[in-house]
Amino acid sequence: MADETLSNLLHENRRFEPPAELAAHANVKAEAYERAASDREAFWAEAADRLDWGKKWDQVLDWSNPPFAKWFVGGEINASVNCVDRHVEAGRGDKVALHWVGEPADDTRDITYAELKDEVSKAANALTELGVKKGDRVAIYMPMIPETVVTMLACARLGAPHTVVFGGFSSDALASRITDCGAEVVVTSDGGYRRGAPSALKPAVDEAVEKVRAAGEVTVRNVLVVRRTGQDVAWNEGTDVWWHDVVDGASTEHTPEMHDAEHPLYVMYTSGTTGKPKGILHTTGGYLVGTSYTHWSVFDLKPETDVYWCTADVGWVTGHSYMVYGPLANGATQVMYEGTPDAPHKGRWWEIIEKYGVTIFYTAPTAIRTFMKQGADIPAKFDLSSIRLLGSVGESINPEAYMWYREHIGANKAPIVDTWWQTETGQILLSPLPGVTAGKPGSAMRPLPGIVADVVDDDAHSVPDGSGGYLVLKEPWPAMLRTIWGDDQRFIDTYWSRWKGLYFAGDGAKKDDDGDIWLLGRVDDVMNVSGHRLSTTEIESALVSHPKVAEAAVVGAADDMTGQAVCAFVILRDNAGDGGADIVSELRNHVAKEIGAIAKPRQIMVVPELPKTRSGKIMRRLLKDVAEGRDVGDVTTLADSSVMDLIKAREEATA
Ligand code: ATP
Ligand code: MG
Repeated sequence: MADETLSNLLHENRRFEPPAELAAHANVKAEAYERAASDREAFWAEAADRLDWGKKWDQVLDWSNPPFAKWFVGGEINASVNCVDRHVEAGRGDKVALHWVGEPADDTRDITYAELKDEVSKAANALTELGVKKGDRVAIYMPMIPETVVTMLACARLGAPHTVVFGGFSSDALASRITDCGAEVVVTSDGGYRRGAPSALKPAVDEAVEKVRAAGEVTVRNVLVVRRTGQDVAWNEGTDVWWHDVVDGASTEHTPEMHDAEHPLYVMYTSGTTGKPKGILHTTGGYLVGTSYTHWSVFDLKPETDVYWCTADVGWVTGHSYMVYGPLANGATQVMYEGTPDAPHKGRWWEIIEKYGVTIFYTAPTAIRTFMKQGADIPAKFDLSSIRLLGSVGESINPEAYMWYREHIGANKAPIVDTWWQTETGQILLSPLPGVTAGKPGSAMRPLPGIVADVVDDDAHSVPDGSGGYLVLKEPWPAMLRTIWGDDQRFIDTYWSRWKGLYFAGDGAKKDDDGDIWLLGRVDDVMNVSGHRLSTTEIESALVSHPKVAEAAVVGAADDMTGQAVCAFVILRDNAGDGGADIVSELRNHVAKEIGAIAKPRQIMVVPELPKTRSGKIMRRLLKDVAEGRDVGDVTTLADSSVMDLIKAREEATA
């Protein structure tokens, strides 16, 4: 039936073959797909052999009690040993692990693997002194400074699961996460730098600790405070401890214990784009196998020569999997940057790439579209010729954003890996392989070797090529979430109840005529216009393909005639001025031409900003409130809550 699957409207024919040189030396070749398909468990066992184990596993996968998976059963491993000690023992201690770049210019630190090992050992000893034992949870509320990575690895070393809470979140968000996972120790700093000024963190921790105490379920015993900005802080005697008092003088000797492969590594709360955050539990062995293997294969990492940079904040899963655990387990040299892309000037990221000779760069479409809006002359001022591979994560990359990224950052030669995954999946599941796949702008292409995914219809039948449906995972994978912290039933209900035996990701997708997969946006956001199910992503991509448009968000608003109607919000490029008097009809016609009259927006609003979560995802539910003339709902997870006022004001002015 026409209304049961997503209409498949947008056509894109460009393709980019892998550069010959890269393909010839790629870490992973096409044969990996067949090898993984013929024996998936043997394939993952081989990936696990890339790591150092204290005790080898007896069984690769125990799936006897789905959806509760156990990977590398009986194996023992320490994530911190794999991320630091083993590189030092292999004689690579002098290699730089982190080129840390503070936001204030010239505030930089290069940290070798040997230094990182010492710092992690000291922090592990200090946390032990503070009474942290294996199994205890530690909350981390920090800026992007080296101590954040050190703390995570020290926790992993002790087997004390961490929960990193994004430093931009409020004290309420922090308090609810501390309570939910029962953390008795919080690690924070006085503040961090944000757009040229010190921005405090400790006051939010003080408030959160007070809220947690008032609620009476959990007692925060200690708050460990890094001095970063030197700003004044309130001090709670008996609870607060300075990092430099307990860590700096601690011993650099720390003998790590090996942990069971299924020992909890961390709890990460999802972004909350769609509702109440869920505490996603990741465990040690499978997670480290999944992240290190995909980091090595998808980014074609050559640890001896590459300089890798993932711009994600450590408060998101991308910062965990592809800044901390994956790259460090692989012995990569990487950049870690404290600040925002536009401080002190709009070319800051490109300046950093030039300075450190970054070869692999991984960022989000929202950032790319912001750079598109500002214009290509900004990156053009810097030497980006070191770049050999680009990555994208977080949302679908619109084909025009992909082309811009390829041309202006990748010099028309670096392949782009569009990586689809989630907090829950822990590791990248769908992506081109840079030495194998001919990439298509806007498509995440195929499941990686060892991953079994499909697009299905309402009855869980695989859809034929050329049609749309729901993205599902058909077999377990090593870094998959094990449960929602403290709530097995919610884990089952959220991900495993729609169809028996299938993991439902919540995203719509289509297969093109070649069987390649395109993500079409969240199933909750799909619009139904006169019986046609339309994808937000496709219409947004059509709008972004207009030369005057930098960003677009599309929602379905109730409509008497058609059930729902398409409403679009667009941000124009800086060089387009106000777009001209006919901009709205111009864009409506453009969508009709690109994908068909059915997708033509009923209404288009030119806005200065879009509401985004702090990880940069568009919050369409707030725009739907505007489009349907309601009061705007909960804005607490917005990066900038004044954005909604700007949009409302614009609406009233044009109404
Ligand atoms: P919540 O689940 O709390 O609403 P969230 O889904 O925004 O939050 P994340 O786990 O950070 O939290 O995001 C995963 C989602 O991001 C995916 O389900 C998908 O919708 C989107 N996504 C990530 N990467 C891609 C990609 N390459 N292409 C398309 N969509 C992507
Ligand atoms: Mg999600």
